This record gives sequence, structure tokens and C-alpha cells, in this order.
Amino acid sequence: MCEFCHRHGEGKKWYLQAKNYSEDLLSDIKRRKYIADFMSQPERAAHVVGQLGGINRLPVFVQTVLTPYLSNRQKRVHFGQVVPIEECEQIFDFVTSVVRVACLCRHNTVGTEQRYCYGVSMAPRGGKLAQIIREIDVNYLTGPDTAGLEILSKEEALASFREHEREGLCHTVWTFISPFIGGICNCDRTDCLAMRATMTNKVPVMFRAEFVAEVNPVLCNGCRQCMCVCQFKAMGYSAANKKVLIDQRLCYGCGICRASCNKDAITLYNRSAVPVAATIW
Ligand code: SF4
Ligand code: SF4
Repeated sequence: MCEFCHRHGEGKKWYLQAKNYSEDLLSDIKRRKYIADFMSQPERAAHVVGQLGGINRLPVFVQTVLTPYLSNRQKRVHFGQVVPIEECEQIFDFVTSVVRVACLCRHNTVGTEQRYCYGVSMAPRGGKLAQIIREIDVNYLTGPDTAGLEILSKEEALASFREHEREGLCHTVWTFISPFIGGICNCDRTDCLAMRATMTNKVPVMFRAEFVAEVNPVLCNGCRQCMCVCQFKAMGYSAANKKVLIDQRLCYGCGICRASCNKDAITLYNRSAVPVAATIW
């Protein structure tokens, strides 16, 4: 279990606890203001991640102190965790509505409206979360291309997530002043600011999933399709064996490689049952 499970989930998976999506948490004025500011100032997130790029140029001892400080600061406000699709489905089972909005990261990195982010709510039609978004005047979130907030059924949301998996995107839940979870995003390391911070700048702003992947060498035919979609550089190819291997110390447990394998050779296992990865978050 990651530290959020202990702190916000009473020893269970914190992102599967309905209370962490509750409208009660959204009654907090400070949290509402945080969300409104976050959504209405997309350039601020890009600026912060841009600044993190400078960390790699600092002396090692400064990086050693600064990196955990920045990561811990982020845990209080906006932190994520990789979640495989079967757990996204569990979340869609207990939330009351799913609202698709344009992605703040891609607004910055690609410069166009891309709908990869999903607000999840315990109230109909997006509840207070959608209300906050509707009240801020940001055209990248509310149109014209998005035609406003799109309210999806559970089935529609899941079908979209499966499509995102085929694109090679990994699912991540996000807090807005922890532990409130307001959304699930679909990320890649090229366009997603959080993945850039975590993978490129080495300042973690997301936990790994509660799972790690393993390849069954009997089923694997060495096609290497899975290697094309791993965002975390956790896979290697053995030319001698003509098989792919996963370095479970690097694996984030997203399961995107599994979706790309037409031999069903990849399985996700509970992280806690895999000794080399059990304590790596
Ligand atoms: S996609 Fe499947 S069969 Fe192909 S290399 Fe990866 S694990 Fe092996
Ligand atoms: S090897 Fe791990 S990190 Fe890479 S795609 Fe598969 S599950 Fe995700």
C-alpha cells in the first residue's frame, strides 16, 4: 500500500474510497478556489514544470534535499496515482457522474483542445465540480470544440478509456487538495506535464499503481508491440531469447502493455506480492 492508502484510505486503496470523491469535501471554500484557480490558469502548471527542468542542473546535494521537498509539497495539493483500467471501472461503478473535459496539460504542450481528462463526481451531472468549471470563463474547457462539458455514462467512459489504452495512454487519478479526487486523466510522457515532472525532471508527482506487470515467456512471441507503448521505459528485449522482459523495479503497473499484447502474455500482479517492487512507489 502506498502512503496515501495509510493516510487517506485506512489501510485500503485510498482511490477506491467513495468518501475521497465526496461533495462534502467540495464544500470547502479553499478547495473550490484551488480548483477554480488551477483550471483557469493552465499556464501556471506549465511554468512550474518548466522550472523543474532546472533542477537537474543543480549540485547533487541540493537535488537530494529539493526533490523530496517539492514532491511532499505536491502531495498536499495535487498528486496522482497510476490506476489500471479494472480499477477505473470500479471507480465508475460508485461515482454518480463522469464529465469529460479538455486537458490542461495538452492545452500547454500541444496547443490544442484534447479531451483526455474526466471529472468524476458523487452527484448527478458533475455536481459541484462541474459547477466550479462552468463558473470559470476558460474557453479551452468549455468549448467551442468541447461543446461544453460532456456528461458520459459509465459505459461510454469505459469505452473511451479502452480507446485511450489503444493509443498507449496510462490512467491516473488526481487530487485537488488531498485527499479529494476530482478526476482521472490519460497521460503520456510527451504531452503530460505531470509525467514530465515525474519521469524527465525526476520530481515525483504521482505514485505507481498497486500492481506490477510480468511477461509470460511461454506466450510471448517477441513482437515488441508492448515496448512501443510503455511510457516508463520498464521493458527490454532479449535478442537471444526473442522475448520481452519487464524490469519490475521500473514498472508503474499501468497495464498499457497488456492492452497492446495480442498473445495475452502480460499479467498484472499485486505490487505487494512482488518482492523487488513491493516498496517502490
Ligand atoms: S506484445 Fe506480447 S507477444 Fe509481443 S513482445 Fe510484448 S509480451 Fe511478447
Ligand atoms: S511494463 Fe509496467 S509501466 Fe510499462 S506499460 Fe507495462 S505495466 Fe505499464
